[in-house]
Amino acid sequence: MTAPNGTVTVRRLKDLATLVSLSKRRGFVFQSSEVYGGLNSCWDYGPLGSAMKYNVKRIWWNAMTRRPNMCGIDAAILMHPMVWKASGHVDGFSDPLVDCKDCKTRFRADNTDSYINKKQCPTCGGKNLSEPRQFNLMFKTHMGPVEDQGSVIYLRPETAQGHYVNFQNCQVTTRYKIPFGIAAIGKSFRNEITPGNFIFRTREFEQMEMQFFVKPGTDEKWFNDWKEIRWSFYKKYGMNMANLRFHPHGPTELAHYAKAAEDVQYLFPMGWSELEGVHNRSDFDLTQHSKFSGKNLEYFDEASKEKYIPYVIETAVGCDRLFLAFMCDAYREEVTLDEKGQEDVRVVLGLHPEISPVKVAVLPLSKKDELCNLGEKLRDQLAEDFEVQYDESASIGKRYRRQDEIGTPYCVTVDFDTLNDQAVTVRHRDTMKQDRVAISALNEYVRKGMKESF
Ligand code: ATP
Repeated sequence: MTAPNGTVTVRRLKDLATLVSLSKRRGFVFQSSEVYGGLNSCWDYGPLGSAMKYNVKRIWWNAMTRRPNMCGIDAAILMHPMVWKASGHVDGFSDPLVDCKDCKTRFRADNTDSYINKKQCPTCGGKNLSEPRQFNLMFKTHMGPVEDQGSVIYLRPETAQGHYVNFQNCQVTTRYKIPFGIAAIGKSFRNEITPGNFIFRTREFEQMEMQFFVKPGTDEKWFNDWKEIRWSFYKKYGMNMANLRFHPHGPTELAHYAKAAEDVQYLFPMGWSELEGVHNRSDFDLTQHSKFSGKNLEYFDEASKEKYIPYVIETAVGCDRLFLAFMCDAYREEVTLDEKGQEDVRVVLGLHPEISPVKVAVLPLSKKDELCNLGEKLRDQLAEDFEVQYDESASIGKRYRRQDEIGTPYCVTVDFDTLNDQAVTVRHRDTMKQDRVAISALNEYVRKGMKESF
């Protein structure tokens, strides 16, 4: 549907391919090892993507560690192999894998509709399929020079075990009393059978996980509190809340040790899918590590003089998946028809400014030396406080569009009047409204706008 001349219609993101293309064109995400033809389901974050990913991590980290009774850790990827025995990953972290003998496709039996409903291959529709067999998702490697069974070590498939094995270290050094929490951001690895949908499911990814240790009996209250805390995080950073929902795990989805679990699902272009998990993991993890390590991981509650193994409420979100959700949510096409009925499309990434890779672009109106010199000075002034891009190429209209497409909230143009009045024009990404602002007040103007207008 198109609107009459002059009015603007807004189109949301229709498919992931549009985002993959924008990401490559503008430097958000590239295929890994592209010059060698790429490596399946591995991606590299480019100049803008790495800056944006850093912002995603920073807002999550601050949201977690600035709460009372919270601390952070940064645990090693390689852990003692017994950790994965205790956690159940060696014996149970597997997905059912099916091979199609006709077209050689490999797929997961438990999330492939054609298999679940009709026992058919999702690629060729054939029925010449192997029986499902359990495939362990952990990547194995060897520690040290000898590659024998005794040197097997795993790349961690989640960061959470680093929290559990450091539970006592953190409690003692922070002197926190229960309830308290530990947050961590780090790489995890899973040898997924069917990775895909761009950065949604990959074999190497980054997780942002938080474990909150509570007194048994208070766990249900904390589970609900953490659901609310996480919900308000998404609201604060400008997500369209109609694209988010909670999905409680039914009895068949619930892990054997979990008392309750709910996914935060996001409406990605391929449909509702898990973005984050909020789990009540009971006392399973610390009990297991007590058993396998022989160390007593009980907590002594001074107030009640009781000893107990704390329950754990976990929130776990993939950084790459959240990055993707923010991109999908922010993408819009503003379509206007000209007199000839031709579409003019303004692509905008309406990212929250805390997430945008660039906060301000400095654009001299012409390539004349006086304007460029001043523009460069202005870039340095703004770079004291913000990520800035300086661009003097192409028409001003084109340069505005470039910045809209990468989500820059403010563009500053330097014109000939600037030489006399020491003021610049600030153009706002979302409204395209323009303000004249004194150079001396510019940093404060941007800082205040980022805080108050989004
Ligand atoms: P899924 O059902 O999608 O396989 P999961 O339930 O196994 O995910 P968790 O183990 O709870 O996921 O991991 C927590 C979060 O880590 C997920 O909500 C997701 O955001 C992220 N995550 C998990 N696996 C991957 C992956 N292969 N690629 C990217 N992110 C992932």
